[in-house]
Amino acid sequence: MGLIVQKFGGTSVADLERIRKVAERVIQTVRQGHQVVVILSAMAGTTDHLLKMAHQAAATPDKRELDVLLSTGEQTTASLLAIILKSMGYAAKSLMGFQAAVLTDHDFGNARILDIETKRIQHILAGGTIVVVAGFQGCDTEGNITTLGRGGSDTSAVAIAAALNADLCEIYTDVDGIYTADPRVCAKARKLSAITYDEMLNMASLGAKVLQIRSVAFAKKFSVAVHVRSSFTQEEGTMVVHEDAGMESLVVSAVTHDKNEARITLQKVPDQPGVAAKIFTPIAQQGIIVDMIIQNTREEGQTDLTFTVPQSDFQRAMQIERRIAAEIGAETVIGDENIAKISVIGVGMKNHSGVASIMFNTLSRENINITMISTSEIRISCVIDEKYAELAVRVLHTAFGLDCEKPAAGGQVR
Ligand code: ADP
Ligand code: ASP
Ligand code: MG
Repeated sequence: MGLIVQKFGGTSVADLERIRKVAERVIQTVRQGHQVVVILSAMAGTTDHLLKMAHQAAATPDKRELDVLLSTGEQTTASLLAIILKSMGYAAKSLMGFQAAVLTDHDFGNARILDIETKRIQHILAGGTIVVVAGFQGCDTEGNITTLGRGGSDTSAVAIAAALNADLCEIYTDVDGIYTADPRVCAKARKLSAITYDEMLNMASLGAKVLQIRSVAFAKKFSVAVHVRSSFTQEEGTMVVHEDAGMESLVVSAVTHDKNEARITLQKVPDQPGVAAKIFTPIAQQGIIVDMIIQNTREEGQTDLTFTVPQSDFQRAMQIERRIAAEIGAETVIGDENIAKISVIGVGMKNHSGVASIMFNTLSRENINITMISTSEIRISCVIDEKYAELAVRVLHTAFGLDCEKPAAGGQVR
């Protein structure tokens, strides 16, 4: 007998019929003799709908109240699943984030989990009851409801699995595993049977939303065995694991794309010590995360500085930089929201040269212009025009020999 955490995403709990299917799957696991803790997302579209309503109520909704509102999506599904499980003759109890003692910091809308006190969950499990926890939410030390950022139910699941020392954390979603590229964009994407935590961390941070990045960081830190699989089939999915010598060693194991960044360029910036600090400090003080940075020196003691920020912070960052440009005597500030970041990722890259040149040549053959480049030990990212994102993913996928002969099945269930 083991302890299994099962997380079901929005599409898997989109309506009552699907929640019934979730109940059947949970019962199947219980019948195999396991203890089960279920973590649920809100019904697909609910969080977006709630956000929209809040923004109709006020242009800048109060962050504390917004989290109270957003958490209701997961409250609904958790209680419905518990109601259904009970009606099917199984003892079940739903817990909201605060009842499950998911303690977070005070960063409403993007809170980090600090600690999970598992006594209550363990007590309920010990009584033979299925525990259903509302994902995506916790509470701070003052008892305020907090939410963990979009896609945060993944993090709830992995963090609870880590705190309970569970044997397995299953992430049930609308694709049947982790693919070499988003199967909705690349029909020839191939399902991976296993992927390392580091590769998945990179994929998640570079646009593959199949797992929220913080969930992968938790999984790596606490060595949680994570199995990403479909709610709609019984097929094995993808295991996220530590790197081991027996793994298939691909030079490039995945291609990702991210359309959620925007680019800002300050032109003709005086080329003097301290200027970069003046440009980036106010942005950092506002909690805006800068991703890529490029500086090009011009001839006459001037430089151009280009960087990317999340699209959601673009307007704020532009406002700040217009002010800074005036202060430091930069000539213009140009913004562009129509960009995409395309990345190739693989632990095998550590020991191989030539990956960058294949990437640049492949994009050039399609006449796709690269405007920014960044690299790390196991990835290369290029910023290109947003309208070529899908094409770039597909041609790179082919160029790195990742294409599967049979089109991916995973992209079809929605
Ligand atoms: P859930 O609601 O279950 O949390 P998400 O929509 O957050 O599901 O994540 C699943 C989606 O992630 C898939 O529908 C797929 O389009 C997308 N995705 C992006 N990159 C990948 C990838 N490399 N492998 C699998 N899915 C991916
Ligand atoms: N419901 C939240 C969202 O849509 C959390 C999640 O689904 O993981 O982002
Ligand atoms: Mg998700």
